[in-house]
Amino acid sequence: MSIALNIVESAELAARENHAHRITRIDLEIGELAGVLLDALNFSLEVATQNTLAATAQINIDQIKGSARCRNCGKTFHLTELWAVCPHCDDFQYEILAGKVLKIKTIDIE
Ligand SMILES: [Zn+2]
Repeated sequence: MSIALNIVESAELAARENHAHRITRIDLEIGELAGVLLDALNFSLEVATQNTLAATAQINIDQIKGSARCRNCGKTFHLTELWAVCPHCDDFQYEILAGKVLKIKTIDIE
């Protein structure tokens, strides 16, 4: 819920700075590894946008796939959770390349 509130607050702040009357669309980027359940977030956003400039906004979520590079064998692989092992060599030391993002990409206002 607090994530949804933060998103709506940030969006409203940006909209007010631009003297907007309402927010028509919010595009979000949420990484697979950001620890967010999309169903729960969608529901929270519906509640959090009530009586705000974003009350009628269309909210779009782009899910960013998690990926990591193994420090042992150097291969990259699809990472769906933070605690995993390399599927190529079973090593658990890897560098996360993508998937932890949680941000507002764009906001459309009028
Ligand atoms: Zn490996």
